[in-house]
Amino acid sequence: MYEAIIGLEVHAEIDTLSKMFCGCPVVDLTQAEPNSAVCPVCSGMPGTLPVVNQRAVEYGLRVALALGCETAPVSIFARKNYFYPDLPKGYQISQYKEPLARNGLLHIRTQAGERAVRIRRVHLEEDTGKLTHSDDETDPYSLVDLNRAGVPLLEIVSEPDLRSAAEARVYGEILRNLLRYLRVNTGDMQKGVLRFEANVSVRPVGEKDFRTRTEIKNLNSFRALERGLLFEIDRQRELHEQGKPVIQQTMGWDENRQVTVPQRGKEEEDDYRYFPEPDLPPLVVSAEWAEEIRNSLPELPQTKFQRFRAEYELSDYDADILVAEQGVADFFEEVVEISDGVNPKLAANWVTGELFGLMNQVGVSLDQLRVSPQHFSGLLKMLEEESINTPTAKTVLAKMFESGQSAEAIVESKGLSQISDADQLAQMVSQVLDGNPDQVAKYFDGKESLANWFFGQVMRVTKGKANPQVVKDELAKQLSLKK
Ligand code: ADP
Ligand code: MG
Ligand code: ZN
Repeated sequence: MYEAIIGLEVHAEIDTLSKMFCGCPVVDLTQAEPNSAVCPVCSGMPGTLPVVNQRAVEYGLRVALALGCETAPVSIFARKNYFYPDLPKGYQISQYKEPLARNGLLHIRTQAGERAVRIRRVHLEEDTGKLTHSDDETDPYSLVDLNRAGVPLLEIVSEPDLRSAAEARVYGEILRNLLRYLRVNTGDMQKGVLRFEANVSVRPVGEKDFRTRTEIKNLNSFRALERGLLFEIDRQRELHEQGKPVIQQTMGWDENRQVTVPQRGKEEEDDYRYFPEPDLPPLVVSAEWAEEIRNSLPELPQTKFQRFRAEYELSDYDADILVAEQGVADFFEEVVEISDGVNPKLAANWVTGELFGLMNQVGVSLDQLRVSPQHFSGLLKMLEEESINTPTAKTVLAKMFESGQSAEAIVESKGLSQISDADQLAQMVSQVLDGNPDQVAKYFDGKESLANWFFGQVMRVTKGKANPQVVKDELAKQLSLKK
């Protein structure tokens, strides 16, 4: 039996208006004209000087504090030197020996249970430019877009506390939720604002020391993170089983072939010739500033999760889905607050089930949603009071979703109110039974499944508006009288 040992390095772009060390705007790479948001500083012209973006530091601190890190009163920017066409200065300004923050925790829940993953460090740096390589072998070239060069980046490094690919994925997802709550990062993976590097080694269960690890780069989605790790874990396990060594190296994830490929030997610290950035003073974070930021943090997903479970008696599953996005959690709570007497569990079911179902089907996000909490609450009230039944409520919700009308207005205009009147339904039941003597005979010959068919007939006559329980009771009563 083998187990995986995984530590993640997460790169999150910080969603500020301007770049880390210059005044250039942060633009959407998929929209903006290449190299349209570039100045002498971020294009690495000699003689220019960087200036720290205070907002980026503040956002970095939000994340660090939300992760329960100790923040450094003084941290140091450092030059990480290497040559690559996406890095015009020939070095990246990062933090090294003295990062912004250390020693945090992120709580995750998986099928294996709950665990606290230790955060080793959180530091600030700048993003590199983006290269696009031609895939035409007869005409090879690369394009350089420096719009991304100098965009503020936060690196969050975990301790090697994760034990499976699935766990690593959950860690990534939970961290993404947190960054979105803090409004530090949009979480838009398709735009590359969140990128993973996974360090992984494999050892027999019970062994004490870690074995040699590899690092997988280029993991830009949760799927890639999980698949890349599964592949690499398998590869290393096979090597161990064959008694062959794992070589410490950097692997790339090949998305097309779904395999990891060796890129280069593991770089040593010395290769980067780190030294303190001479053009920037030490970064000072006063205790007051850190405290102010700590006090401004919103209720975090983990706390909200516990509260939703306790306050609304929700299952882990429902609470998880509802707190994943702050907007969803707010919508749910608003609905519950104004729906006096409606069971929160019912509200949770309808939000995560029907409402999300419609939103996914049509591709509507929460801010485009036409169903207000008030209207949604109206629907739940009618359902709870049994003035409409469940199938009708689904139809009504679909109409609310399209039209933005209230549930009451739709029910009224379409005459969808549930028929609960026992006399009226008794009459319909007897009509159905009288109209189908052959089926009634078969029923008494032992074909009891026909009871469902009779039920269906009554529902058909009432266009689904009948109170199902009343119909069932009435059917049972009338059939027993005919015996
Ligand atoms: P470097 O700075 O050289 O990339 P670090 O020692 O800072 O390396 O670790 C980087 C990441 O690798 C961290 O997330 C850490 O948890 C993880 N890590 C360290 N050793 C191992 C190991 N033996 N197996 C798996 N992950 C590891
Ligand atoms: Mg590394
Ligand atoms: Zn610039």
